[in-house]
Amino acid sequence: MRKQFAVIGMGRFGSAVAKTLSQLGFEVLAIDQDEETVQDVSAYVTHAVQADSTDEEAMRALGIRNFDVVVVAIGEDIQASILTTLILKEMGVATTIVKAVNDLHGKVLKKIGADKIVYPERDMGQRVAHHMISSNIIDYIELSADYSIVEMRASKEMLGKSLRELDVRAKYGCNVIAIKHNEQMIIPPSAEAPLKQEDILVIVGKNSSLQNFEVTFAE
Ligand code: ATP
Repeated sequence: MRKQFAVIGMGRFGSAVAKTLSQLGFEVLAIDQDEETVQDVSAYVTHAVQADSTDEEAMRALGIRNFDVVVVAIGEDIQASILTTLILKEMGVATTIVKAVNDLHGKVLKKIGADKIVYPERDMGQRVAHHMISSNIIDYIELSADYSIVEMRASKEMLGKSLRELDVRAKYGCNVIAIKHNEQMIIPPSAEAPLKQEDILVIVGKNSSLQNFEVTFAE
């Protein structure tokens, strides 16, 4: 059976999550306390209901515990975000994904059992900054506080050189885990093959090591 999703809070983040899931063919229950917002989103999700997610009875009546994943996308009202997460976990919702607006909010969410905490503004800010460092950085994904993955187009300096010649691991302390070429993924990448134009390196490492690598090969 396909996963059942519910999204609480139809701000910019929540509505983008709900809309994308819906476009991907999944059933989504969208919940917001504001009637007008519910009307707006009802055009593109399977079900949209007006309810206050801090009202335990209302959540029970919606059968929220039967959803596989519930996203809490309430930002401004931190108290409502925390209370909602607590109610969902106490009701036994399998997976909760909760948007945090700052580190302290995130810490509290972790303590009360949120399964995944996302920081959309912070993450997007980091991505934009990495794109700004160099035009050959394609993507940046934070894995933990210390480690990330960077996707980087081979710079002019790298062309014709193999990974062994570049000595990425010893010189920069990062690992090239894959090379993408024309939508083809080469995993693991060859240590000997010379890098070609349009090759994309997928690199994992400590943030400080990756930054050093990015800056060295920035274009
Ligand atoms: P954005 O994703 O646009 O940045 P935001 O972080 O500013 O959103 P808010 O605007 O505070 O978040 O809330 C998002 C939505 O959540 C709003 O549409 C609001 O009506 C809804 N919301 C807030 N509290 C509750 C609640 N207790 N129950 C249901 N919906 C709620």
